[in-house]
Amino acid sequence: MKKLPKLVTELTLIEQIRRDFHTSQKNIPLGIGDDCAILRPPQDSEVLVTTDFTIEGRHFRRDLHPPESVGHRCLARGLSDLAAMGATPLAAFLSLALPAKMLAESAGRVWIAAFFDGLRALAESHRVPLAGGDTSESSGGKNALILADIILIGTAPKDTALRRSGASAGDVLYVTGQLGGAAAELSNMMRRNRRASTSSTLDHPHLFPEPRLDVGEALIRRRLATACIDLSDGLSSDLAHLCRASRLSAEIEQTALPIHPLARKLGEPTALEAALNGGEDYELLFAAPHSTSLPTSLAGVPVTRIGTLKARRSGHPMMTILSPHGTRAELKSGGWEHFKQPSKPKKSSRPRA
Ligand code: ADP
Ligand code: MG
Repeated sequence: MKKLPKLVTELTLIEQIRRDFHTSQKNIPLGIGDDCAILRPPQDSEVLVTTDFTIEGRHFRRDLHPPESVGHRCLARGLSDLAAMGATPLAAFLSLALPAKMLAESAGRVWIAAFFDGLRALAESHRVPLAGGDTSESSGGKNALILADIILIGTAPKDTALRRSGASAGDVLYVTGQLGGAAAELSNMMRRNRRASTSSTLDHPHLFPEPRLDVGEALIRRRLATACIDLSDGLSSDLAHLCRASRLSAEIEQTALPIHPLARKLGEPTALEAALNGGEDYELLFAAPHSTSLPTSLAGVPVTRIGTLKARRSGHPMMTILSPHGTRAELKSGGWEHFKQPSKPKKSSRPRA
């Protein structure tokens, strides 16, 4: 987005967004500019909808995260939910509340333009039109926060969208990409405690995660998966969601986990903790029948077998992990959960999904 003028109001900001995000797609007969957008989903498709908040101090820190990363991650979180269901994005909507002070100051206007640059780069790479939204001044005077709510609309051929609940006992569990990279990059950023400078969006699992849309679409098209979820809260928590929804238990093999090199650098046991509980990797966790032979990569993304699903037995843990020494222990959900009382005091400034 080009530098915003000194006197930027709601209307001039919306006009700039409209110009920057102009698209002429046949499935968006009407985008930004009217009271509603008009979308035309493909015939015989179903419409999938997801919304995700991005809240300053909760999901990002203005002093740590480059604004391009905040825009990228805002959209990536919604796109990753579509990927988890195998959906193809149709349109995005963005509700944005900004402190008045940001528009009045040059640094604030630069921040806003860079936020939209980050969002637009990811939108363009996945051909997702921004078809509307809302723009408001946030309250709170000099303590006012930036709030962004992204709404993603996707489509999938009727009755094909992947759910968390479709897996059966005996199915094999797979993950895409590598785990723990996002937590490792975030902890490095927190340690340095100044805004990260990045010249590229590559190899930044926390700042610029890549939603696995192509993998999700391939899973549907090739009918490979029985159930799927994206890893936003952390493997141990998201696997628990899949187990509960499918009424199954899971056995994970620690040595099979594809741990990200950034996490490995932290050494054990931190690397394992990052891979299991770190969250925000936005990889896909999916189940496929034992009889399905899965390629080693899908849409150019490595796919790794990490365990199996079994029938649930009362009195037995829902998830277990096999250590490299051959001992099996319960795997507890240790990922992120809003409103959870921490068992030991956590740094409240740690931004998390
Ligand atoms: P209304 O008051 O009728 O809701 P607005 O003035 O809020 O309309 O919005 C005008 C147009 O600009 C609409 O098409 C709306 O979707 C779009 N819009 C407003 N804010 C944003 C934003 N942050 N991102 C994208 N589109 C936006
Ligand atoms: Mg209106």
